[in-house]
Amino acid sequence: MTKNKPKSIITGITGFAGSHMAELLLKEGHEVFGIYRWRSRSENISHLNGHLHLIEADLLDLKSLQDVMISVRPNYIFHLAAQSFVPTSWTSPAVTLETNVVGSCNLFEAARTAQVDPVIQIACSSEEYGLVMPSEIPILETNPLRPLSPYGVSKAAMDHLGYQYFKSYGLKIVRTRGFNHEGPRRGEVFVTSTFAKQVALIEKKLQEPVIYVGDLTTRRDYTDVRDMVHGYLLAALKGQPGEVYNICSGRAWVISDVLNYLLSLSRVKKIKVEKDLKRMRPSDIPVLLGDNNKFVKATGWKPRIKFEQTLLDTLNYWRERV
Ligand code: NDP
Repeated sequence: MTKNKPKSIITGITGFAGSHMAELLLKEGHEVFGIYRWRSRSENISHLNGHLHLIEADLLDLKSLQDVMISVRPNYIFHLAAQSFVPTSWTSPAVTLETNVVGSCNLFEAARTAQVDPVIQIACSSEEYGLVMPSEIPILETNPLRPLSPYGVSKAAMDHLGYQYFKSYGLKIVRTRGFNHEGPRRGEVFVTSTFAKQVALIEKKLQEPVIYVGDLTTRRDYTDVRDMVHGYLLAALKGQPGEVYNICSGRAWVISDVLNYLLSLSRVKKIKVEKDLKRMRPSDIPVLLGDNNKFVKATGWKPRIKFEQTLLDTLNYWRERV
């Protein structure tokens, strides 16, 4: 172990944002401890082999988390682990609530009972806002939470639990409500990644020239994942414990424009677009567009990467993998 380096734990290190968080923290000189499960896929962090301390633990096992706290005694925790896929929250609502709410409760309890005092950033979500009235756009942190999926409910509960553990026990929890973030390593079930992967498959003649899509009318506020994890770090360094911050670009893209941009990057020019009913959700949020002023004022954060670049990088990621 290295002396005098800040020690950071990342939950969800094997996931999309967790792997980028790990890269950033290593670059910033942190000693990085990642929580993984024996069956976790390691491809997102295999390039960091030898630079990370990986510790087996599960959010649903309090003892495993207590052991991590006692052995690491972290300065920072970046809590990114979750059941993160909205559609799965309809097929498995109880598992979603268990992982995201009980799992987060276990993490807070582990920090509290091990008597460690780290700053804990928790990855809450714009999906908590759910039903947003036209007059409420762009969305402020003070907006009512009207979640429209079990995932949104689970994240709202984690958000409130973070507030309560700050108030009741003084845990230094900073809540970030991240809006959509995208980029290389995004799970292939998520919309931009699934479009990019299909374009890459079509270019290699591994898929007929037809892209299958769900609802193309929704509007989302996109940030590059590398800007998002930089925001998470600034939240931990400069954010106020107990506070909640939107992290977003303040600019919304219609999903059809995301698709059209990726199609314009394609080396195959004639691609048909077909609706796939399996990709539609029971209830979807038409517009999620955030106001980031509170976060920018508190931390000086600014998104640096244009979304067009994010889409190109995502497509190139898939071009190398299919
Ligand atoms: P991913 O689905 O890519 O990663 C989720 C991670 O959680 C994986 O490493 C997974 O590990 C881990 N995990 C799941 N269950 C457990 C458990 N019981 N114990 C330990 N680890 C577990 O998610 P993202 O990286 O996209 O998202 C990171 C966080 O940000 C999540 O909390 C998500 O809800 C939130 N968020 C994401 C947004 C986005 O647009 N990406 C927007 C707003 C919030 P394993 O490999 O073992 O499955």
